[in-house]
Amino acid sequence: MTRSRSVFITGGNRGIGLAIARAMAEAGDKVAVTYRSGEPPAGMLGVQCDITDPSQVDAAFKRIEEEHGPVEVLVANAGITRDSLLLRMGEQDFTDVIDTNLVSAFRVAKRASKGMLRARKGRLIFVSSAVALLGEAGQANYAASKAGLIGFSRSLARELGSRGITSNVVAPGLTATDMAAELPEERIEALRGQIPLGRLAQPEEIAAAVQFLASEQAAYITGAVVPVDGGVGMGH
Ligand code: NDP
Repeated sequence: MTRSRSVFITGGNRGIGLAIARAMAEAGDKVAVTYRSGEPPAGMLGVQCDITDPSQVDAAFKRIEEEHGPVEVLVANAGITRDSLLLRMGEQDFTDVIDTNLVSAFRVAKRASKGMLRARKGRLIFVSSAVALLGEAGQANYAASKAGLIGFSRSLARELGSRGITSNVVAPGLTATDMAAELPEERIEALRGQIPLGRLAQPEEIAAAVQFLASEQAAYITGAVVPVDGGVGMGH
């Protein structure tokens, strides 16, 4: 069995993030998750943190470092949508999505990399989307943020690889969480029709790919984009 590591998952209180957190905690890792309101999930370290606020991010890292030690595996998972067609998309709809999905990933990765550079090892994993490479009408802001994560992650793979740090992206397709539940039923049906496997992903199926990329077995994988999308992107 591998040693218990300090794992930090943003947006780990529900949806895909919670499935990742549970999988890693069950495997014996020390898992910390962000939450913004309510109660954090039982059995994990919950740090109250809005990732768009740099001081809250710094405070979250300090707390995790005190309780679990420096972050060894970072999963930048938190994300939002503000869907609308281009002409109806407000400036704030665009910048809010970029700030949460992309700038905040930079914020947490930069902070996590400090400890990883010292340790000369670490795993950075970014949760992007199949939409990053396919595009989607009504999601120009979201697709741009998720495509940005790919260039960001690949740059880190080059920059940090010589220090034993890997950086990878997981690109889920439509997954059964609150985010998908916001879509109208007809839209879900239309999207389902485009998925070769004919169904939505379960959050645990995304978690399995993240867990693999965080594992010892994935030590030689960096700069990758791993699709978990039922074939919708045909491997991109
Ligand atoms: P959910 O909407 O179910 O959960 C989103 C998570 O992100 C919540 O934990 C939420 O916290 C957190 N979050 C959002 N904004 C912030 C913020 N400013 N600070 C801290 N936490 C924040 O989404 P999913 O679980 O479905 O999505 C997880 C990731 O997977 C996202 O990046 C999403 O884009 C991506 N994805 C999802 C797909 C899907 O079909 N569901 C498909 C492809 C990718 P809180 O509870 O406090 O709101």
